[in-house]
Amino acid sequence: MEKKNLDWGHLDFDYRETDWRYVAMYRNGSWGAGELVEDPNIVMNECAGVLQYAQTVFEGLKAYTTQDGRIVMFRPDLNADRMMDSCKRLEIPILPKELFIEGVEKVVKANEAYVPPYGSGATLYIRPYVFGINPVIGVKPADEYMFRVFTTPVGPYFKGGVKPITIKVSDFDRAAPHGTGNIKAGLNYAMSLHAIVTAHEEGFEENMYLDAASRTYVEETGGANFLFVDKEGDIVIPKSDSILPSITRRSLVTVAKDILGLKVTERKVAFEEVGSFKECGLCGTAAVISPVACVNDHGKEIFFEDCREEMGPVVKRLYDTLTGIQMGQIEGPEGWLHEVK
Ligand SMILES: *Cc1c(COP(=O)(O)O)cnc(C)c1O
Repeated sequence: MEKKNLDWGHLDFDYRETDWRYVAMYRNGSWGAGELVEDPNIVMNECAGVLQYAQTVFEGLKAYTTQDGRIVMFRPDLNADRMMDSCKRLEIPILPKELFIEGVEKVVKANEAYVPPYGSGATLYIRPYVFGINPVIGVKPADEYMFRVFTTPVGPYFKGGVKPITIKVSDFDRAAPHGTGNIKAGLNYAMSLHAIVTAHEEGFEENMYLDAASRTYVEETGGANFLFVDKEGDIVIPKSDSILPSITRRSLVTVAKDILGLKVTERKVAFEEVGSFKECGLCGTAAVISPVACVNDHGKEIFFEDCREEMGPVVKRLYDTLTGIQMGQIEGPEGWLHEVK
């Protein structure tokens, strides 16, 4: 398989059209068989449910080349499960797990020429999503849905070294109690755009969202979960029903406990105690874990001592171990690497 001639080490996180996408339709009460198609455009009615009432959920994962030359995806079964949960909450007919796995496998295989070579740091980002496509004007769930998967090659997240970021405590809320914060729905992102644009204008890279009810507990950022390291070197993970269950964060917890022998506690984390932590990382597919140097609370700077200049030692061990497992250099738990053949 001849690879496309791309500058793998310098790709941005931008949409770049690849050759194939996978499409399956839900009609007349059931999911039909999926197929690979070449057209990157979707034609739909002006009144499509997704356009009027934002009935859409998505996933994000990546395919890449391991040290021994295999093309793999990282734990796609968990993305499938999470998409089923997301569908349920938005009254979208649940996408069968097998259809999800077939879709991501086929689209990666078909776009093999875009899977970056080992060592480039780049990956083929995979975007599966499901949305209501038939006309809906009275407020109700759509009757017809499209499941679609496209891919786009993206560059290494940390180009030119890892620099810990500065984030701000947001004045906006991300997710209401009993709301949709725990599912991966486009609507959660639509309403976070103003907050992230505001943060960027003020010179911050991300927002720290607190719980919407009391504004006293730490939740997550717009698209990544928090992981903290306390004075004892133990790991603390914020717990809340409105946090999106990051697959990267759950995998890092397993790595910490079972491979590195670290102590991990998942509990509510009061914003007040954030200053007592030594390290802070943001967990998500794109960066795996990126260090946070400082949280700015309305002008008051709270520093994570061991992450001020570079990734703190515990965050670094977690990062090295999980990326080592992903690249096939370190033996990980059974089933974490899903080979695309
Ligand atoms: C996707 C997402 C994450 C990260 O999840 P991963 O499965 O690790 O990629 C975290 N928070 C939010 C709000 C997300 O949408």
